[in-house]
Amino acid sequence: MVRIVLGGEALADLPELTQTDHYVKLKFGDGTRTYTVRWFNREAREMAIDFVVHGDEGLAGPWAAAAAPGDEISFLGPGGGWAPRASADVHLLVGDESAFPAVAAALDALPAGAKAEVFLEVGSAAERQELATTDSTNVHWIHRDEHGMGYGEALTYAVQSATLPKGDIEAFVHGNADMIKPLRHHLFNEWGVPRENVSISGYWRTGLNEDGWQSSKREFVEQMEAEQDAR
Ligand SMILES: Cc1cc2nc3c(=O)[nH]c(=O)nc-3n(C[C@H](O)[C@H](O)[C@H](O)COP(=O)(O)OP(=O)(O)OC[C@H]3O[C@@H](n4cnc5c(N)ncnc54)[C@H](O)[C@@H]3O)c2cc1C
Repeated sequence: MVRIVLGGEALADLPELTQTDHYVKLKFGDGTRTYTVRWFNREAREMAIDFVVHGDEGLAGPWAAAAAPGDEISFLGPGGGWAPRASADVHLLVGDESAFPAVAAALDALPAGAKAEVFLEVGSAAERQELATTDSTNVHWIHRDEHGMGYGEALTYAVQSATLPKGDIEAFVHGNADMIKPLRHHLFNEWGVPRENVSISGYWRTGLNEDGWQSSKREFVEQMEAEQDAR
C-alpha cells in the first residue's frame, strides 16, 4: 500500500470528520474512484489516503504508485456515516487491504479497553501494518500467499471458523465483494447478529473496475438479499 498525504488550503473548508469510514471520490478526468480518509488534520490542511497498489490496471492504484510531491488531484466529498459504537461489547472488524484504512481508523477511535476482534487479509506477512491495539484487541492476520486463494476467501474462512464472541456484537465488514455474500450469511443466519449492528459491503470486485462494480452492485445486493433472507 502507498500512503499519499494531500495538502491544500481548500481542505480548511471541510467540516470536522467524525466518522471512521469517511471517503472521498478522487477525480481522474471523467472517472472517479472511492477512497477512505485514513486521517484528516484540518489545522495542518492535510488528509492521508492509503492506496492498494494492485498492478498496472486502473486509474487510482497506478496513480498512487507513481505519485510525487507536487502532483495535483481533486476530489468530491467527503461522505460516510459509520463509527464504532462505544456501548458495544465486542467490535468485530473485518477487511482486506481496501478496508484496512477504515478498520485502522475505527481502532484509533475505540475507547480504551474496548474489546475488538480484528480479521485482516493482506498479501503476505511483509504487508502487515501497525495498528492502534490494546490488551483487549485480538488481531488475526490472514496472509493470502499462504493459502493460494482469491481475494477475501481465506479471510472468509477465518471468520467462519472463529468462535462467536459473547455479548452485544457490532460488526464492520468490507472488502472484496466475493467475501460479502458468505460473511453476510454467517453474521446474520449463523451468528444471529442484529442487522442494525452490522455495516457490510463490497468495496471492489475482482475483474471489474470501479464503474463496473458500482453499476452491478445493486443487482448483486438484491440477489444476495433475496437468496439469504428467504431462508
Ligand atoms: C467506501 C469505499 C472506500 C474505499 N477505500 C479504499 C481505500 O482506502 N484504499 C483502497 O486502496 N481502496 C479503497 N476502496 C476500493 C477502491 O475504490 C477500488 O479498489 C477501486 O476499484 C480502485 O480503483 P483503481 O482505479 O485503482 O482500479 P479500477 O480501475 O477500479 O480497477 C482495475 C482493475 O483492478 C482491480 N482492483 C481494484 N481494486 C483492487 C484491489 N484492492 N486489489 C486488487 N485488484 C483490484 C479491479 O478488479 C480491476 O480488474 C474503497 C471503496 C469504497 C466503496
